[in-house]
Amino acid sequence: MHEIWKRLLDGNERWLADGRAATRRAETVGGQQLAAVVLGCSDSRVPVEIVFGQGVGDLFVVRTAGHTLDTAGLGSVEYAVGYLRATLIVVLGHDRCGAVAAAIRLVDDGIMPPGHIRGVAERIASSVRRAREEGAVTAGEIVARHAVYTAEQLRQRVAVPLHGVEIVAARYDLVDGTVAQVSRIVDRRPG
Ligand SMILES: [Zn+2]
Repeated sequence: MHEIWKRLLDGNERWLADGRAATRRAETVGGQQLAAVVLGCSDSRVPVEIVFGQGVGDLFVVRTAGHTLDTAGLGSVEYAVGYLRATLIVVLGHDRCGAVAAAIRLVDDGIMPPGHIRGVAERIASSVRRAREEGAVTAGEIVARHAVYTAEQLRQRVAVPLHGVEIVAARYDLVDGTVAQVSRIVDRRPG
């Protein structure tokens, strides 16, 4: 057995002893009553449930590198809003994001990453260009704008009614652990 897989299974055994998690498992086994949908980055330093102090059954989480939106991500958000009745969507970017850094290198130096990373970098590159047109200079500013643009794309592209659903774009700080809201969209059109 891979030694890290063993470590993960040991972690699962320790988690089984967590009384609160056991209670929540029992409460949610019949269905999800979500607090929110979170579209975040796959970066291991931004563990969404931990960052927001949430647990079993609380968050419907979609994580891709640089929270890039593909059809699977869109479909996942549509499911959470359309079927699970989530009323809050959070797009969570973070500083020192490797995917955003790759997109900046692509825009500035024409360095195209290999394989399917290319698709990730190209999607974020359009955010980089737009952010700069709108005055963003630092990587941190670009990260914040990328979260805002992703929230806008979500609003435009999801194929379920969003009336009464709020979409928040936010930025997580790796150093101090804070989450700061960057923008919010509330769709109050009747559906
Ligand atoms: Zn990232």
